[in-house]
Amino acid sequence: MKFIQLAVFLFLCLSAKADYVNIYYNETSNGYQVLVDNDQYCPVSIKFNFELKNLKSTNDVENIVVIPARVKGHVVTNFVVKNVRKTYRFGMKTRSNLGDHTTKNYDRDFQYHLPFKSAKNVLIGQGYNGNFTHHNENALDFDLRVGEEVYAARGGVVIEVVEKNSRSCTSSHKCANYNNYIIVYHEDGTFAEYVHLKQSGSKVKVGERVKTGQLIGYSGKTGFASGPHLHFAVYLQELGGRETLRTQFLVEDGTKLASLREGESYRKGY
Ligand SMILES: [Zn+2]
Repeated sequence: MKFIQLAVFLFLCLSAKADYVNIYYNETSNGYQVLVDNDQYCPVSIKFNFELKNLKSTNDVENIVVIPARVKGHVVTNFVVKNVRKTYRFGMKTRSNLGDHTTKNYDRDFQYHLPFKSAKNVLIGQGYNGNFTHHNENALDFDLRVGEEVYAARGGVVIEVVEKNSRSCTSSHKCANYNNYIIVYHEDGTFAEYVHLKQSGSKVKVGERVKTGQLIGYSGKTGFASGPHLHFAVYLQELGGRETLRTQFLVEDGTKLASLREGESYRKGY
């Protein structure tokens, strides 16, 4: 067969290791197969840009391709040689990010739990679109001291934990590199971040399922923070960023719902 000789013109712009997934290809009897391993505990969305010469794709890969969580050898497409007497090759560029970017249908009515200990009253130091660091961001800062317990506002699977940092600063946005945080992926495709945790302040590990109201870690003041607090945000991922979402919390005895506002205190009586 001529395939082997003809295949030498293959070129790849492929960065074999994209940020969140491993993208690779195999030779087949009539071309190539493009595959992805996703080790993440949530889906990953990938935008492929293929350049094909004398090959045709068996799948439509113009749009975002969503790779399910924890899969090996997920087939993206097959490239079949059109004319075996001519050279064939493909190039590929990719962009990827966590989450399924093809759906925006999340649970808008979910009743989040306050992420602190029962019987406490906590001030919202900075609210949605706050002037200090929440410009165009639906995030909440709970006024917790270093070492106070942090509870899951909503159940899900832990997809990322950083707890090695000890320092904080406010001199530039680079200070965020020192954030300790936990990210939880919810079943409706949204994510929650719990930020500024103290060093070694996580009670959970990547891949662990957590329930709403479960103790997950300890508050701190690491990273981009002028003082101790818990930064909390729920969001959907996009290729080039993310969209933070407004949420509602159960307050007082757990029968009342509230949109939390900057400068107000809320009691967790449940
Ligand atoms: Zn914040």
